Amino acid sequence: MSQNNCESKIRYETEIEARKNRGWLESENKQKYSVYGCSSCSGWHLASIR
Ligand SMILES: [Zn+2]
Repeated sequence: MSQNNCESKIRYETEIEARKNRGWLESENKQKYSVYGCSSCSGWHLASIR
């Protein structure tokens, strides 16, 4: 079994919820994030983009 760091990430129930939070995170942290669907927990996460 491969280990993933999914549990340490914030999980969103829906893509819409993840996108909403991305909006203020981007302005708060001055950084870009991508929204992706997670196959491990079937939720949604944000990944920071350099
Ligand atoms: Zn996950």
